[in-house]
Amino acid sequence: MNMKIFPMDEKYQDYLTDESCCSGSAESISFPESEEQIREICQSMRHQGTSVTLQGGRTGIVGGAVPEGGHVMNLSKMNSVADCVQVQGGRNLLKVEPGVTLLDLQKQIRKISGPGKLCWPPDPTEPTASIGGIISSGAKGCSSWYYGETASYVEALRYLDSNGEFREITRGEKSLLFHGTYIDEIDLLIGGEGIYGVITEATLKLVPAPSVLWGICFFFRDRNDCLAFGEQMRVRGTGDDVSAVTVLEYIDRKSIDIAEKQKPHMTNIRDLPDVPSEMQAMVFCEIHGSSEQAVEERAGMLLELSENHRCSPEDTWAMTGEYGVEKLRAFRHAVPESVNMHIRSLSAEHPGIMKLGTDMMMKGYTSIDAVDMYENQLRQAGLEGCIFGHMGSGHLHMNILPKDIDEYHRGRELLAHVTLGCSQRGGRAFTEHGIGKVKREMYAALSGKQNIDEICRKKRELDPELMWNPGNVVDFSLLEDP
Ligand SMILES: Cc1cc2nc3c(=O)[nH]c(=O)nc-3n(C[C@H](O)[C@H](O)[C@H](O)COP(=O)(O)OP(=O)(O)OC[C@H]3O[C@@H](n4cnc5c(N)ncnc54)[C@H](O)[C@@H]3O)c2cc1C
Repeated sequence: MNMKIFPMDEKYQDYLTDESCCSGSAESISFPESEEQIREICQSMRHQGTSVTLQGGRTGIVGGAVPEGGHVMNLSKMNSVADCVQVQGGRNLLKVEPGVTLLDLQKQIRKISGPGKLCWPPDPTEPTASIGGIISSGAKGCSSWYYGETASYVEALRYLDSNGEFREITRGEKSLLFHGTYIDEIDLLIGGEGIYGVITEATLKLVPAPSVLWGICFFFRDRNDCLAFGEQMRVRGTGDDVSAVTVLEYIDRKSIDIAEKQKPHMTNIRDLPDVPSEMQAMVFCEIHGSSEQAVEERAGMLLELSENHRCSPEDTWAMTGEYGVEKLRAFRHAVPESVNMHIRSLSAEHPGIMKLGTDMMMKGYTSIDAVDMYENQLRQAGLEGCIFGHMGSGHLHMNILPKDIDEYHRGRELLAHVTLGCSQRGGRAFTEHGIGKVKREMYAALSGKQNIDEICRKKRELDPELMWNPGNVVDFSLLEDP
């Protein structure tokens, strides 16, 4: 046997947690490098009746990769990328193993197709996230407003089925009844949070990369002006291949402060100027396109619109080209990164503290309504928090920033309260981060019995021994034997 299974000793403690700061326990861990090793490890675990928790880059923020006992299978060593793009029916397809990171994928695509030729649009902003993790959590990120769901860029998946055989499923191949409607089988694994099995290879759909890129940060002295500006941009829509606003992000002052505090320690953004203290909020946007002139014109239109909302051209940062845009994107990314650092340091003092962030889309709310609601809720609860996120696709994140364990518990109550409110008003309570373990209780409280029963039925069908990812989404340990 080639497989290596290690006891979960001190050396592997980091593998018991992820970016949510939720932590768990396990008896053993493995780092398979091939499908054959995966098969052997699974056979051994099945034989012992041991459950398996799957991990990619452990950058998830709902504890999906955190084990609740059993074995941890970390896929970071399954990280090879095919050396050419296959063209099939006009589509550019690239096969990758699940442990490839987003950063490595981007580098490899550039190497294979040439700089600026092709790209894989899903971008949950965290470069160390793995393709397997992104697909399994159905992560989206900033540019989904224009580019759409991650599922649109996954053509086929290989996974290990319950008979111990590797199966490739291609988009459009087979429909399954789920939640009362027929869905493409592949879409059960995308966003399935690993509960139906391990993905061992993904065929990704690449698209032409934009040849012209702009990034602009607009800073406002008044957050109402900022929100009104962003809302107008949202209503105007994205654009087309020639020139489109692909990213539209709102960032409040508290979020700016938290990122600025970490900025000196972040090499990729530390040379950016400080944001003047009078600025109360900002919008970050990206414009992608194929025509220099059309992109410049669109940037000009946005500058004009921002001036109508009392943001002068001196209150903007604009950068062009891949490198420049990457820098501004890194500043936006510094916000959640810094929030996570804050929570991590608090959780070191008070074990049990985890990230408290919303991931919801209120029905019929503008971004202005959503920010008002979040601010009011924080004020009423006497808690601090920051608000940032995807204004374009209508889901802003509120992250609660507790100072101690008491505030953490109040924060959890607040999170449950606003999520319930969203669901009761017909909104979507969980849009892109998944449920994992952190939001499992909330999910159970909001989902009807019928919904949970349907997930359990599918789980039993595809994973009859309940081997994969125990505790994710639904507490399958409570399932009675059939
Ligand atoms: C700073 C920061 C910012 C972020 N911003 C965004 C954002 O804007 N939008 C967004 O959507 N997300 C965001 N995320 C979260 C994002 O969802 C995760 O980073 C990413 O999707 C998870 O990838 P991973 O490889 O780290 O997966 P992990 O955390 O390791 O795992 C995630 C889930 O996938 C499962 N899994 C992993 N590999 C496999 C496999 N091969 N087969 C089956 N299941 C598998 C795991 O069991 C787990 O349930 C952010 C995270 C961070 C840290």
